Amino acid sequence: MAPPRFETDFLPHHGQAIEVAPGVQRLTATNDGPLTFHGTNSYIVGGTSVAVIDPGPEIESHYLALRKALRGREVSHIFVSHTHKDHAPLAARLASETGATVVAEGPHRAARDLYVGEVNPLAESSDQDFRPDIQAADGEVFEGDGWALRVVHTPGHTANHAVFALEKEAILFSADHVMAWATSIVAPPDGAMSDYMASLDKLLDRDDRIYLPGHGGPVADPPQFVRALKTHRKMREAAVLDRLRKGDRYIADMVKVIYRDTDSRLHRAAGLSLLAHLEDLLRRDLVETEGPPSITGVFTLKT
Ligand SMILES: [Zn+2]
Repeated sequence: MAPPRFETDFLPHHGQAIEVAPGVQRLTATNDGPLTFHGTNSYIVGGTSVAVIDPGPEIESHYLALRKALRGREVSHIFVSHTHKDHAPLAARLASETGATVVAEGPHRAARDLYVGEVNPLAESSDQDFRPDIQAADGEVFEGDGWALRVVHTPGHTANHAVFALEKEAILFSADHVMAWATSIVAPPDGAMSDYMASLDKLLDRDDRIYLPGHGGPVADPPQFVRALKTHRKMREAAVLDRLRKGDRYIADMVKVIYRDTDSRLHRAAGLSLLAHLEDLLRRDLVETEGPPSITGVFTLKT
């Protein structure tokens, strides 16, 4: 099985709501960046009464473009895939101005308990104030005017990550779990590699025809792409084990080799991704470290 072929051809049409499927519009925010690609995709689902998926980051022009796209339509629900600041913050404002019900898996939380003295390096990236009106159960279905969305819990990128399926149309709003342009960031303590891999398997049991992600364009062949993502992570895990075998002890040294072709602005995220692999390997008793696993810790193969 080959690693994924990423699709980076994407026209964001910032400021304009673009129809991407019958009854589905995409509006991309202007928060371009190395982790966000051309910006966060907000989606509008329905006709005269709609659901909004991921209202997006606190950017005034994006909020105004969203309100313009929603003019003359009732917003009954707001779905939030996870609590990162590029997806969740506008939910509260949009809900207070439209009366919509906010649906999500839950407030922000880490994937595991923090160790004594551990400072969460990711605290700044999440909307800690976010509180949904409804904490949706896995598999729960919400209906509106001409649409029905099923909530599917997909922890991994964050502990509270969920995707939303428009099942009649076989469309899955895959948010940051599966994206066509790049792999998703899995960084402890908010993210967990073992959860992420299980959430990929969960999608393979479904038969969605197309994914509409939180950043970039659609995933056209979901089963093949998801299997390729799994291959990619297994190859990365093999690379970590190989570096340990060759004598690397520190994540910083592994990043230099494993991510030598990657934009250096992403090396911090890359280090956290390797920590996610190492935490998974520790859990499976293949690796050891002294004390709690950390980005600056010493890791060795278990003999
Ligand atoms: Zn995210």
